[in-house]
Amino acid sequence: MPRVTFRFYEELNDFLPAHRKKVDFSVPFKGKRSIKDMIESLGVPHAEIDLILVNGRSVDFTYIVKEGDRVSVYPVFESLNIQEPTRLRKMPLRRTRFIADVNLADIARLMRLLGFDVYFQPNLSERQIIDISLQEHRIILTRSKKLLKFKTVTHGVFVRRGDKERQIRDILDRLDIRDQARPFSRCLRCNAPLKRVAKDTVLHRVPARSRSFCDEFFVCQSCDRVYWNGTHVIRMRQVVARILA
Ligand SMILES: [Zn+2]
Repeated sequence: MPRVTFRFYEELNDFLPAHRKKVDFSVPFKGKRSIKDMIESLGVPHAEIDLILVNGRSVDFTYIVKEGDRVSVYPVFESLNIQEPTRLRKMPLRRTRFIADVNLADIARLMRLLGFDVYFQPNLSERQIIDISLQEHRIILTRSKKLLKFKTVTHGVFVRRGDKERQIRDILDRLDIRDQARPFSRCLRCNAPLKRVAKDTVLHRVPARSRSFCDEFFVCQSCDRVYWNGTHVIRMRQVVARILA
């Protein structure tokens, strides 16, 4: 039977069994098989993949494998020292926006704290998450490999195990978007941007103890919640500093 040699890079190895991680391995195939089909049969969701090289040349998902091909598979957003690679999708999404799946409420909130646009609703179905991702060009954040394997998913990031801050650092590093963080610019509750307002317009809505020593006040443009730089922010600043350190 004809065979193809695969090698997966970086975090794509998380999807492989131990004996296939970070090594070349060969896989037999029968008949006409697309590269996408073969990669998914090895357990790696296509949404995690950004670049496929066959014998050193970039190909798209429809490539039909041939006897003796050597295939290198790279993860989404990985920065690569390869000249003019063909990206599989219109990447990168320059205004990076997200949709978090129903299990990632804490991640959504912390990413909003950093200023990232993260859509989150606690009761969305997988279908709805995918639809919103496609319509609004949002990258799906999920701990579900099953969700990332849906054919229609184009942009997704598998969120690894770990504490919350580490998970977020991992997401930011994989997408290389740390410098896009704008801490304290977004409503933690509804994801809308905050707008700076004059102190006297919101003073009556702020606790007395904060009125005297705070000068900067912000209002959510969607839910009208007031934010100010009070003592409660110190802990949040520490969280932000740790994540972006
Ligand atoms: Zn709000």
